[in-house]
Amino acid sequence: MIELKSKREIQLILEAAAILKKVFVAVKPMIVQGITTEALDRAAEKVILENGGEPAFKGYRGFPKTACISINEAVVHGIPDARRLKEGDVVSFDIGVKWNGFYADAARTWPVGAIDPKKHALINAAKDSLDVALAAYQPGWRIGDISEAIQRYVEKQGFQLVRDYAGHGIGRQLHEDPQVPNYGKAGRGAKIESGLVIAIEPMVTEGHYAVETLEDGWTVVTKDRKNASHYEDTIVFMESGFINLTGDEVL
Ligand code: MG
Repeated sequence: MIELKSKREIQLILEAAAILKKVFVAVKPMIVQGITTEALDRAAEKVILENGGEPAFKGYRGFPKTACISINEAVVHGIPDARRLKEGDVVSFDIGVKWNGFYADAARTWPVGAIDPKKHALINAAKDSLDVALAAYQPGWRIGDISEAIQRYVEKQGFQLVRDYAGHGIGRQLHEDPQVPNYGKAGRGAKIESGLVIAIEPMVTEGHYAVETLEDGWTVVTKDRKNASHYEDTIVFMESGFINLTGDEVL
């Protein structure tokens, strides 16, 4: 069941999102060769706690860390550890914040140092597909209109979209209805109504979209081990349009 949010609830999600954006501001400059993903995780947790929030992922279904950090062929749910970033890596950094009972969720994919043009295109496809889908938004849309817009854009760039994971409603729970697939048909799915808050999160693959989970029980990688990128924002829809609560052009 989809729970539409009141203005008060949207305000709290916006405040959670503001903490989340502070995490991106702190962590992005740390994405350099040699740093461990554990150090990035600690920095993220520090920002969240200093601002009075709670790390939303830590303990969620037993996930042990604050951020999901997924490198190269890892798509989502990578566990921070002693691994060091290398020049040319593509790093997905996914973070959730809980604040006064409400959640915000967002992800960025960043390059480590100089990367080749194909990796740049892969990163941009995830980011731009979300922006392109939102820019096309019109009142009366259904979830499927978002799905189709993302899929059309990404496939035009020569990449594919992971099928096994989707965006989601968000609010009092980290994952709520509706599911927001990154592929599909316009005109299908739930209606987008005022008060709907969803996390849209395209997961883009350089090769085939098939994925599998590693033995750690968490890290999702492409089956063909080609690179992936992931971008996510928490969006609220209202009578007047939408607001990207976690969006920020400088990031
Ligand atoms: Mg999410």
